Amino acid sequence: MNPYQELFKKQLNHYSVIGATTAKERITKLKALKKALEFDYRDSIKEALYNDFKKPHLDTDLTEIYPVISEIKLAIQKLHSWMEPQPVKTPLSLFGANSWIQYQSKGVCLIISPWNFPVNLTFGPLVSAIAAGNTVILKPSEHTPNTSKLMERIVKSIFKEEEVAVVLGGVEVSTALLELPFHHIFFTGSPKVGKIVMKAASENLSSITLELGGKSPTIVDATANLKRAAKRIAWAKFLNAGQICIAPDYLFVEEKVKEPFLKHLKEQIDRFYDSNTGESSSYCRIVNQAHHQRLKGAIEHALSLGDQLVIGGETAKDNYISPTVIDSISEDSKLMQEEIFGPILPVKTYHKIEEVIQYVNKGERPLALYIYSKNNKSIKQIIAQTRAGSSCINNSIIQYSNHHLPFGGVNNSGIGSSHGFYGFKSFSSERSLMRQYGWGPLDFIIPPYNKFKKKLVAITLKWL
Ligand code: NAD
Repeated sequence: MNPYQELFKKQLNHYSVIGATTAKERITKLKALKKALEFDYRDSIKEALYNDFKKPHLDTDLTEIYPVISEIKLAIQKLHSWMEPQPVKTPLSLFGANSWIQYQSKGVCLIISPWNFPVNLTFGPLVSAIAAGNTVILKPSEHTPNTSKLMERIVKSIFKEEEVAVVLGGVEVSTALLELPFHHIFFTGSPKVGKIVMKAASENLSSITLELGGKSPTIVDATANLKRAAKRIAWAKFLNAGQICIAPDYLFVEEKVKEPFLKHLKEQIDRFYDSNTGESSSYCRIVNQAHHQRLKGAIEHALSLGDQLVIGGETAKDNYISPTVIDSISEDSKLMQEEIFGPILPVKTYHKIEEVIQYVNKGERPLALYIYSKNNKSIKQIIAQTRAGSSCINNSIIQYSNHHLPFGGVNNSGIGSSHGFYGFKSFSSERSLMRQYGWGPLDFIIPPYNKFKKKLVAITLKWL
């Protein structure tokens, strides 16, 4: 028997109760979660993340706690209106009826999350699931054991397990959970595992949201403010040591500005970390040895192909890799074959923007695509001729923190979206509703058909 069958059954017996809760009741739960994150457990979260991969406390406040709190604040503010019936038009041919959409909870949901922003990417979707009135089983990552254990404690302090429960463990646990007929599965992780999740979901026809990853191109043209672009790209690439799904993965710089741009990039990196990243309290580590080895191997592979190391390249035993920039990157390099997910930035150059568009369109559709430019024509052309989950012009990553925008990918980088109303929608079914008052059209065109009814149908076809 599946080890999680009992827990699943408890939630199955309970989901309709939770689904029938009012906005006020759901808001009470969201406030309890907000209090836990903002006050009761804030210091413990910082400590756990520091112990897991030396995440700086300020980064934890900014990239783990703040996004969940801001998600909660928006849900508290908007939940009454999201839950309201949404009236829609009814055509004249259906006279005597009115129509509306009612968002209803999906039921019993599974949230599987990754290790790179464990709190944000576990509790963020949980906020949407609670707002939509679901019961939830959370399966956080095994690679951040301190944080995952703490999240279990936090959830236990607020919820009964028939409403929200945390299950800890790795692949075997995930695999067992995926056998159960959840009403919705919300998965954040790699495209490779996303395919496994989608296959498992198909067995039960569970609906899915897949928040995946991939290579996010970053384009810098000659019209860009190079110093500012370098600062923002350095921040976005080396925050969390590059372990961010929407970090700039590789750079495409217009050939004639490559040299000054790389000079600014180096200056910015030195400024961020006082020219001594290894000792800096503002820089974290790679999550574990396996990923450290993978990234170290990718740098060595690139250099063996003759690619040029222009910044960094240092590694140390405590899973440290310095901010690294590699120029003239070859296509055969491992760095260009797979998502980097680490503090290594390969650089390519171009002469015409069409070369970049062609290159991007040859690969998988990115989760994010960034453009640093003042040339509106070129910006429009890139957006019109490529596809990506999100784009930010003259900055990177910050589009994620606007919860009025949907967050998600396309195809290989994801299916569906999260954040704000879009997260609420992902965890809801849109139930179509119609109510007939008095006479309706069918009352006039039921058999037996006669000349009058044929005429009515002809009028309907032509005019209504
Ligand atoms: P991962 O896919 O290896 O693991 C994610 C989760 O899936 C973990 O909880 C893990 O235990 C589970 N899992 C792993 N293998 C499994 C299997 N065979 N069957 C079932 N479950 C399995 O991802 P990761 O290494 O934790 O995170 C990095 C990846 O996640 C990157 O590709 C990154 O781009 C992506 N990511 C995407 C987003 C987003 O919002 N789109 C955010 C963060 C990370």
